[in-house]
Amino acid sequence: MTTPGIRPLVAGNWKMNGQRADGAALARAVVERARGAAAHACELLVCPPATLIAPVADALAGSAVALGGQDCHAAEKGAHTGDIAAPMLKDLGCRYVIVGHSERRTNHGEADAAVRAKAMAARAAGLVAIVCVGETLAERDAGRTIEVVGRQLAGSVPDGATASDCVVAYEPVWAIGTGRTPTSEEIAEVHARLRALLAERFPGGRFRLLYGGSVNAKNAATILPIANVDGALVGGASLVAEDFWTIAQAATRAAT
Ligand code: PEP
Repeated sequence: MTTPGIRPLVAGNWKMNGQRADGAALARAVVERARGAAAHACELLVCPPATLIAPVADALAGSAVALGGQDCHAAEKGAHTGDIAAPMLKDLGCRYVIVGHSERRTNHGEADAAVRAKAMAARAAGLVAIVCVGETLAERDAGRTIEVVGRQLAGSVPDGATASDCVVAYEPVWAIGTGRTPTSEEIAEVHARLRALLAERFPGGRFRLLYGGSVNAKNAATILPIANVDGALVGGASLVAEDFWTIAQAATRAAT
């Protein structure tokens, strides 16, 4: 259930999917569903691949649906072939950027310090960083979940972070794209711990805590009402506008 006073966020991570035509069509389909007052109780965000940010920005123009990147470099500009700087995302109309997604941590060897540097670059560019943390299955099985996410949180969220420039997403690695999710009690336990750690380090900060990992149109109504879940980071289901919208409606219901 969304923490009182916090507006839920439902973010779609399109990952490496889509060509120009279908990316713009998906964005328009989300905008179409989000029209109307009820939609505004929950903030909607889509994070297309870098190649689609410009056409998706056009499709979202004038709507309340926010735009985000899936990653950024820690540097403002320079000799970093293939990378994208946070100010470039800002220039294209992005409001958010995901950093430290487990696929980046695993496939690109990004450790907490690199994630923190990216979050700082995002803040410097005027973007909100969505900082992802989450344990592997081996870590969960070893009873190390709370320790691992606590360490990732401490290392990945920069000093001076505020609720206006940082969102935290708990994404168990083993739940991403697998159709498996933790139990409601397990999600509640991790979110309560993250909330407590953030409160200790940033007194008064009202950070949004998202859950991510196989959220879909069916389980959203169970996951979104869990205590300290202020929205969702959605992969696969965000590629289907109707499913994404169903999840957003579940978040809205959980917040009201
Ligand atoms: C993700 O990659 O952030 C994610 C949560 O993916 P999925 O919803 O497909 O598990």
